[in-house]
Amino acid sequence: MIYLRRIVQLLFLALFLFLMLYPEPAKNVIPANLFFISNPLLVITTIIASRTLQLAFLASGLIIIASIFLGRVFCGWACPLGTTMDLFHRLKKPRKPDIQPILPPLRRVKYFVLLTIIIAAIFGANIAGWLDPITIAFKSFALSLYPAVDYILKGLFNKVGLKSFISPLNDIGILDTHSILFHNSIIFFLILTVILLLTFYQTRFWCRNLCPLGALLTLLSKWRILNLSTGRHLCTKCQRCQSSCKTGVFNSDFSLNDEECIQCFSCVKECSKTGISIGFSKDKSVRISILPSRRGLLVASGLAVLSAPLLKRSFGLRLGQSLPRLRPPGVSRSEGEFLSKCQRCGECMKACPTNGLQPLLAESGLYAMFSPVLVPRIGNCRYYCNACGQVCPSHAIPDMDLADKQEWKIGRAYFDTTRCIPYVNKEHCLTCEEFCPVPEKAIEHYVKDGLEYPYVVKERCIGCGLCEKVCPVQGLAAIRVSPPKDAEL
Ligand code: SF4
Ligand code: SF4
Repeated sequence: MIYLRRIVQLLFLALFLFLMLYPEPAKNVIPANLFFISNPLLVITTIIASRTLQLAFLASGLIIIASIFLGRVFCGWACPLGTTMDLFHRLKKPRKPDIQPILPPLRRVKYFVLLTIIIAAIFGANIAGWLDPITIAFKSFALSLYPAVDYILKGLFNKVGLKSFISPLNDIGILDTHSILFHNSIIFFLILTVILLLTFYQTRFWCRNLCPLGALLTLLSKWRILNLSTGRHLCTKCQRCQSSCKTGVFNSDFSLNDEECIQCFSCVKECSKTGISIGFSKDKSVRISILPSRRGLLVASGLAVLSAPLLKRSFGLRLGQSLPRLRPPGVSRSEGEFLSKCQRCGECMKACPTNGLQPLLAESGLYAMFSPVLVPRIGNCRYYCNACGQVCPSHAIPDMDLADKQEWKIGRAYFDTTRCIPYVNKEHCLTCEEFCPVPEKAIEHYVKDGLEYPYVVKERCIGCGLCEKVCPVQGLAAIRVSPPKDAEL
């Protein structure tokens, strides 16, 4: 069984990476955002925070049903972050027996993390994406590791004179056609690195102690039918079960915290004496629950509710009122409404072909952290593209028809006449007008003393940012896009 689990784990990881690399070709068969729309934590918190229900969210029912009947099987068999941890942990030199500390108080932290996330959602703040394992894995792989691998491989091929390899790899989507770089990508790399390094202290440290999705699945599986059974009277106390268990289910007295079991079958493989099995029988006498007590949960909920107003203020945002930003096309003009739906997953940023969608850090308040913002100087919103809306799992970016998207005003361009070449240097330059993709041109020019001076036709500008991107002025562009004010819409 353990080999079957490893194969299934690798298949899910491969599917995760495939959907990340090829969202377009995959979408006719499997939704590119499959791992997000079937993630119960993201779905539940998005429904609560945004007060909206979407059909795609029904996909999460599969994992909910699997957890109710089979326990944390998702964690052991399908979670891409879990699989990455298992692979990384194989680098550790084997020590036998490798008994790891159980630390029940630390394990309860994940329930309080979950509780805080749910209470924040009740108050309209969707913060699950900061700590959800799928969003962590996606952002680390797509926004940090992939650009790094892309950069290193291209550099390497260029250096050793194998440039001709780059183009075929571009064609099959292994490398990107242009250089990609995401703001703050080092943060995603560091988060993943810390999670992986902690596996050297305890296998699956993240899953045992911190993961809010793991906590939710554990709660869902309280009455599961699949349980661990041990033949205790045959036990020789060799401790192999304790050292092989990924999530510390076996206590030092050989009682079980088996609600933490991720059905990895490692103990079944290791124990040759007692015949540990995972099956339908349940021996309550050897079980110890580490779920927080009802009183503990009540006290924690009270504290979370009391601190909610503080929490909101520290987000730098009275919901709905953060600094205006250039958001992807079609999103709600109300920041609060957009952020209550945005799962901070990074799908739109990976899908954006120009690399223009970038993750915010705290520039717009802590609450907006990791949400997407268009940075035209890096990449414009392409006139013939609506990819971000197609992959957004929560429809925070709506899936608009191309025709509607082409009319959506992301912002509005304006000239900085203290930098614009004709205005300052009295030299010819109409690059922005030339590149403006709006068919009837949102940039025109007038002629004075034989020189052309460009200006923005406000009603036609859709704020795609191509003018800002191509402006030849070094540093800050001479034409820039600002978010639209209500009066301008
Ligand atoms: S807006 Fe982007 S980051 Fe937010 S949920 Fe949609 S795809 Fe994910
Ligand atoms: S619609 Fe614009 S912002 Fe969205 S992915 Fe395409 S180019 Fe990027």
